[in-house]
Amino acid sequence: MRKPIIVGNWKMNKTCKETVEFIKAIEGELNDSCTYGVAVPFTALKDATATAKNLVVAAENCHFEESGAYTGEVSIPMLKELNVTHCIVGHSERRQMFAETDETVNKKVHKLIEADITPIMCIGETLEQFEANETEKVIRTQVAAGLKDLCPKCVAKIVIAYEPIWAIGTGKSATKEIAENSCAIVRDEVRKLYGDEAADAVRVQYGGSVKPENIKEYMAMADIDGSLIGGASLKVDSFKAIIEATK
Ligand code: 13P
Repeated sequence: MRKPIIVGNWKMNKTCKETVEFIKAIEGELNDSCTYGVAVPFTALKDATATAKNLVVAAENCHFEESGAYTGEVSIPMLKELNVTHCIVGHSERRQMFAETDETVNKKVHKLIEADITPIMCIGETLEQFEANETEKVIRTQVAAGLKDLCPKCVAKIVIAYEPIWAIGTGKSATKEIAENSCAIVRDEVRKLYGDEAADAVRVQYGGSVKPENIKEYMAMADIDGSLIGGASLKVDSFKAIIEATK
């Protein structure tokens, strides 16, 4: 049985003080049905991990080198030192605005697994690709490239977030059928490349305008094992409603 994982991606939001207040307000609301977490800015990670008890704390990015002349970057040993257990890689905002590629995603996934930090690897097509019926091709290409040269046991530990770019921050969420179809393609590609054990264990999230009102319908789908949530994860009330809806 795969335990679903629901992670709020705060992006460039919240100070340390706001982070601590939020986590304290949420901790008592968690239940065992899912793994719940928040991905917070680098500056808030230390306070977040010090405050969180059951809530998982994720970084939003990392560099694949251990150290060196990479101004402004944060390495995996630095995250490890702060007790970070999960890390988003390849978010479409980083692919589109910060030159993230399938190759850098793959390097980061390898290094995170080595450090025993769970990668949350994001994939998803643009609106143009969606309209041109290229979704399946894009998904299979990104999954294969992002997971290249990993062992099946490593792949089993990963979380893959399918986030169609046209649904991110637009309020235009994918229908549950579209989301399920894409997440099933993700799993099928993992099965083809890494076998049944990896495919049956890997958790596949849907992300893109998920909110308390629609999360239940995604969670009911066979191949959707949780969600990566942006806007609706920023307010305590809304995050609480998401937890309540996924009990
Ligand atoms: P929204 O939930 O705001 O659409 O953002 C989704 C996302 O990018 C999560 O990583």
